[in-house]
Amino acid sequence: MRIVLLGPPGSGKGTQATMLVEQMGLPHISTGALLRNAAKRGTDLGLQAKAITDKGELVPDDIMSDMIEERLSRDDVANGFILDGYPRNLAQARSLDAMLERLNIPADEAIHIDIDPDELIRRIAKRAKEEGRTDDAVETVRNRMRVYAEQTAPVVDYYAERGLLTLVLGDGSKDEISQRILSVLNTQAATA
Ligand code: ADP
Repeated sequence: MRIVLLGPPGSGKGTQATMLVEQMGLPHISTGALLRNAAKRGTDLGLQAKAITDKGELVPDDIMSDMIEERLSRDDVANGFILDGYPRNLAQARSLDAMLERLNIPADEAIHIDIDPDELIRRIAKRAKEEGRTDDAVETVRNRMRVYAEQTAPVVDYYAERGLLTLVLGDGSKDEISQRILSVLNTQAATA
């Protein structure tokens, strides 16, 4: 299965992707994690990207597209993948579609984790304490939310128009949400 996971910052997208990966044995492709690793290694690209992510802005599309193409060209995606953090705007969504067509691995399913904005703020505040991510500072989070509403929310409609989207409620425990996602994927697999 080739799955695109969508959801606002703090929706638990990364956590759910990690749980799905364990259950389904698919590679987890997280652009946020790829960028944080590059920053930790101190590469030019990583440091450049960190300055942008720390403001809550999006890293330029051409950088992201090269990064994702390199990752999707590896052999381990043959049986599927879980994409987390990409696409984040309509240009990325179109470029991903074209890339996946070219590689002959079109997306099967997009899942949007839908959640109440107040709950998001609470979760991110907690994560900031626990993980110390520099992009979880209050001002940055506010900007990430704005960027999400303006640029990423239209991507949800994009997948809906293609008939690939399922909404999953993001409230409740990690396990409850994970069960909801798995049941969507099972239904999907049964009807495919
Ligand atoms: P979250 O989903 O909680 O916002 P991520 O780990 O997915 O966190 O991403 C962290 C930051 O990395 C984003 O705020 C953004 O600056 C950058 N980033 C990640 N993916 C992309 C992308 N596809 N395009 C541009 N920037 C990205």
